[in-house]
Amino acid sequence: MHVLITGAAGFLGSHLSDRLLSEGHTVIGVDNFSTGNAGNLAHLSNESRFRFEEWDICKPFDLGPVDYVFNFASPASPPGYLKLGIETLRVGSIGVENALEVASRYNAGFLHASTSECYGDPLQHPQSESYWGNVNPVGPRSVYDESKRYAEALVMAYHRYRGVNTHMVRIFNTYGPRLHPDDGRVISNFLMQALRGEPLTVYGDGGQTRSFCYVDDLIDGIVRLSRSNEALPVNIGNPNEFTILECAQAVLEVTGSKSELRFEPLPTDDPTRRKPDITKAQTILGWEPKISLREGLEKSLGFFKNKLSSSTAAVNH
Ligand code: NAD
Ligand code: UDP
Repeated sequence: MHVLITGAAGFLGSHLSDRLLSEGHTVIGVDNFSTGNAGNLAHLSNESRFRFEEWDICKPFDLGPVDYVFNFASPASPPGYLKLGIETLRVGSIGVENALEVASRYNAGFLHASTSECYGDPLQHPQSESYWGNVNPVGPRSVYDESKRYAEALVMAYHRYRGVNTHMVRIFNTYGPRLHPDDGRVISNFLMQALRGEPLTVYGDGGQTRSFCYVDDLIDGIVRLSRSNEALPVNIGNPNEFTILECAQAVLEVTGSKSELRFEPLPTDDPTRRKPDITKAQTILGWEPKISLREGLEKSLGFFKNKLSSSTAAVNH
């Protein structure tokens, strides 16, 4: 297949590029580097089946015929989308529409990276795909949540009115190597803080929960979904649920760090709990995650240690 991936220079887009290239496909990566970076694709510089175009997908684009479009472009970390609020709304609306136009034009398959954030601060636990969510449409997080909810409506419209073969994954908190060390997400923050011997910043009382999925498990679920007949959203995530305090403890154990905890204010509308019901993915994709939080943290450690030593080297230079 000839595949186009938007957001290819980001955390997930770069791993998806690797997976599809390893299967023998040809990949065109598109990214405007707003939250991603070229370093995530540096290892592909001599890969003849990979091509990269720097482009903002809010501007229409046509890079020639493709068989499949994976749409991953969007700021994704809360500090990232809070800083780039209008850009986030635009890429989740105009950007998604431009990507869908490419799929429609070339009769290509389409998979959109949606999010558990569509459930907002959920009143149903765990969250199944049939739950419509509890989102504040005007709070600070609305730039992300509502762009992602609008994008789901847009994808369904291209499926229903234009007959595009579309798919949507609702991704739950995913981590691993290439998660940006400074983009503010909890696993990257805690790992970098623990490795630097700085206090781990726990927001609120740390009793809120998240369910963390290792990147390889997620990518496997996404690839399976892309080859299925399912057009409605499918949750992909690890249903093992941890409080943020438990997550901090796991990071301290895996790193062997003696860092203390520092409690800071809880951000506005921070969801109190999140855990995917993955029955649908198990049933229609035969998928479930294999890697525990402890194993995933161990697998991620080398990447974050490298980032730490290169940032220390830069400071000492
Ligand atoms: P990321 O920030 O590492 O990657 C997103 C990429 O999109 C970046 O490289 C960025 O530069 C690019 N981008 C943003 N706006 C663009 C534009 N207008 N044109 C071209 N490129 C643009 O984040 P990620 O974690 O890899 O997330 C990828 C996708 O998965 C996002 O759509 C995100 O909403 C979704 N998602 C991720 C998670 C997670 O836990 N990682 C959870 C839920 C949903
Ligand atoms: N969080 C925290 N300390 C940090 C970063 C995040 O306690 O340094 C909390 C945050 O308040 C949230 C959870 O960890 O409850 C997950 O945050 P993240 O930004 O990774 O993703 P979210 O699920 O909120 O999109």
